[in-house]
Amino acid sequence: MYPFVTIGEYHAALNANITSCREAVVFYLSQIQQHTSLNAFVHVFEKDALEKADELDKKRIEGKSTGKLHGVVISLKDVLCYKDHPVTASSKILAGFQSLFNATAVEKLLTEDAIIIGTTNCDEFAMGSSNENSTYGPVKNFLDDSRVPGGSSGGSAVAVQAHLCMISLGSDTGGSVRQPADFCGIVGFKPTYGRISRHGLIAYGSSFDQIGVLATNIEDVALVLSVISGTDEFDSTVSNLPVEDYLSELQKPNSKKPVLGYFKQTLLHEGLDPEIKSTHLSLIKELETDGYEIKELDFDLLDFIVPAYYVLTTAEASSNLSRFDGIRYGHQETPPKDDLTEFYSANRSSGFGKEVQRRIMLGTFVLSAGYYDAYYTKAQQVRRLLCDQTKLVFNDIDVLLMPVSPSTAFKIAEKSNNPIEMYLADIYTVFANLTGIPAVSIPLFQHSNELPFGLQLMSKHFEELSLLRLGNELMKKHGPVKKCI
Ligand code: GLN
Repeated sequence: MYPFVTIGEYHAALNANITSCREAVVFYLSQIQQHTSLNAFVHVFEKDALEKADELDKKRIEGKSTGKLHGVVISLKDVLCYKDHPVTASSKILAGFQSLFNATAVEKLLTEDAIIIGTTNCDEFAMGSSNENSTYGPVKNFLDDSRVPGGSSGGSAVAVQAHLCMISLGSDTGGSVRQPADFCGIVGFKPTYGRISRHGLIAYGSSFDQIGVLATNIEDVALVLSVISGTDEFDSTVSNLPVEDYLSELQKPNSKKPVLGYFKQTLLHEGLDPEIKSTHLSLIKELETDGYEIKELDFDLLDFIVPAYYVLTTAEASSNLSRFDGIRYGHQETPPKDDLTEFYSANRSSGFGKEVQRRIMLGTFVLSAGYYDAYYTKAQQVRRLLCDQTKLVFNDIDVLLMPVSPSTAFKIAEKSNNPIEMYLADIYTVFANLTGIPAVSIPLFQHSNELPFGLQLMSKHFEELSLLRLGNELMKKHGPVKKCI
């Protein structure tokens, strides 16, 4: 078997001629083939990946300079554009659509010699927490195939979890990178809003969306993050702050221990699994013993964050998804109807799945004349309060600790008929998207039900390095997966 541990070790093995890019691609193609029942991939680019591997092997053997992600085998969530390859947002409405250009993040991966092996299944238009809302059917958790992998980047999480690729790029609007990483026992990193260009990422909620990285370890996240971050003339919301070399910074010794904090209310929440709660409390004690200063903080807005998130993201989605009407883009019903409005309606009714339709209607409603102030304006006010409070919190602490999800991976179909219950489970992840701060989910624990769960770390804007440092330290000391305390 091909033993992938980190990109660094893989590169050392390539340079020592112990392996080749072709061998890596062949290994992952056979893994994908063996695990089709997980339903993690929607398209596999076998021919392209093998050709690219050969090209890279030749380049390396000839002694030419190699990119930072030389031969790294990466999958893309089916919402990221890869020129001349299909992209469908796991929706029938985009069936048969091919990307006309590369997303900036994808372009940057390719410039550094990455190999794109395929696209991964997800909730339709990234709307969901279980990967059950996909036109391709549900993705299964590799640890227990009767359970969901989380969502919406469920295919990406399983692709990394089941060793179907080395790294996957996902998108995180309200937790879609961190929560599936949590359910699958891997690392999921969502950077600061604006750290990575959103150009070529199919939009869900544009003021929330951010590309994120799913990997087995923090070093790989650090490397990929420094490649895909940075300015871009195609995205006016991207930051022009210089991008750090996160991996080298990570490898330098860091003498100063960050001040940690947690919101009391997050651990007192009635929906939180008791074992997840007690494990977090024990970890806090252990960290104190290890010399960390930890502050217990008050957060009285907890009950408002999920409603605010769903009002604002559905409002943005209703506008973003209006372009998919079967004329400009997307699936067309046949035969076409004579009346244009009826034609749009027929195309959208059959092209979009139930959950997407629900959100478009909800978003249209909260933006409608009589209700705008009651819902949309109110939710914007909550967002403003959260941002103000976040600034104050990070005056006192460096890193905020939180659970990722109130439970471990649940059974397929367990919540699919109860959208409210599904939405409420996003309680710990949407905060980082409402405020734009970076957050990472690291796999540290194992529940008595044998499923993994992790710890979430958040910092102030553009302090990705603090998260990577602490995440790395905690994973080395407490991880990768520790039994519940
Ligand atoms: N579960 C959240 C939702 O359904 C998050 C989705 C996401 O981050 N793309 O909106």
